[in-house]
Amino acid sequence: MTHGLHFRSTRAEISRQALTHNVQLIKEKLGNNYLIGVVKADAYGHGMISTAQAIAANVDAYAVAYIDEALALREAGLTQPIVLLEGCFSAAELPICAHYNLLPVIHQQHQLDAVLTTRLARPVGVWLKADTGLHRLGWRPEQLPAVYQQLDQSTQVASITLMSHLAIGDTRHQFTQQQLEAFTDLCAQTKPSAQMSVINSPALLSATKDISNGYAHWVRSGIAMYGVAPILEGVELPPLQPVMRLLAPIIALRDIPQGDTVGYGGTWRATRPSKIATVAIGYADGYPRSAANGTPVWLHGKQVPLAGTVSMDMITLDVTDLEQVAIGDEVELWGPNLSVNIVAEHANTISYDLFTGVSQRVPRLEV
Ligand SMILES: *Cc1c(COP(=O)(O)O)cnc(C)c1O
Repeated sequence: MTHGLHFRSTRAEISRQALTHNVQLIKEKLGNNYLIGVVKADAYGHGMISTAQAIAANVDAYAVAYIDEALALREAGLTQPIVLLEGCFSAAELPICAHYNLLPVIHQQHQLDAVLTTRLARPVGVWLKADTGLHRLGWRPEQLPAVYQQLDQSTQVASITLMSHLAIGDTRHQFTQQQLEAFTDLCAQTKPSAQMSVINSPALLSATKDISNGYAHWVRSGIAMYGVAPILEGVELPPLQPVMRLLAPIIALRDIPQGDTVGYGGTWRATRPSKIATVAIGYADGYPRSAANGTPVWLHGKQVPLAGTVSMDMITLDVTDLEQVAIGDEVELWGPNLSVNIVAEHANTISYDLFTGVSQRVPRLEV
């Protein structure tokens, strides 16, 4: 679907210039820390290979969720180390990790056992994860020093980076402070000279001082690279530029009388004689079905409200207040003119969900 003809103009434009600009801003905030470009889930729906290529010269490593994603990067010829954030599902992956310089996270006993016992032709670099409060993956803090020792003493292990993950990225939050402090203490206790990694996009964007506490830190950034700040009120944000612009054409226009309803379930009712535009994008394309009546789209330099339930292939808009609307006019669902965060709020979700939800039906076009 990403090759060949597209008679429907619905598309996600991906701005390489915006991506490069954002990475540059992130690097300015990094200090002497390292940057990991998080490109899991098809680079948050932006296209993994093209994104990874665009940032290759500016990142020190990539991170993906699991090995298949990493191997696709290797197949495309990308050479930086790649962190596997979920680690390995089975021991069979370890020789492949060692061969391709993939760095699995070790967060479970079976993964530790596999590293210590699987025969490897060359040692594998690993990331050792501590659970400092998210309670999703990772060793309990008191387990960490002993696990570290076992890995450190194994000839199968080439390097160990210590990591943890934050439940609330905002560094002004007390729980985040608590997690950061617990992690720093734990690193000092486990191996003071170890490389470490705990900062993600919201933590980086909300940090007011040097986040690394004097250590060189591997910063894992996803959403900020794609030009979106998770809503961080009261933070002076760098001028990130949205990388994705989601567009779709108007394919029908009609006038309806006051009192009539629009769409499945009749959830929107015209309070005046109204003009309705039908747009060729729906929940099968990844436009969220949860987007409520009134969710804005961008049309002719204005925010225009959704009128009626999102259907599989189409949405309907109340364009009564627009003077000139024509078949073929293009609507921006989110992008530089309409923040994805606004749509996410109306749809009761977050930008990450909207980006990764854009389906394979929608061609990504690099611009
Ligand atoms: C996805 C992910 C990140 C990136 O988070 P952003 O908020 O997009 O910067 C970092 N660390 C881990 C463990 C992740 O799963």
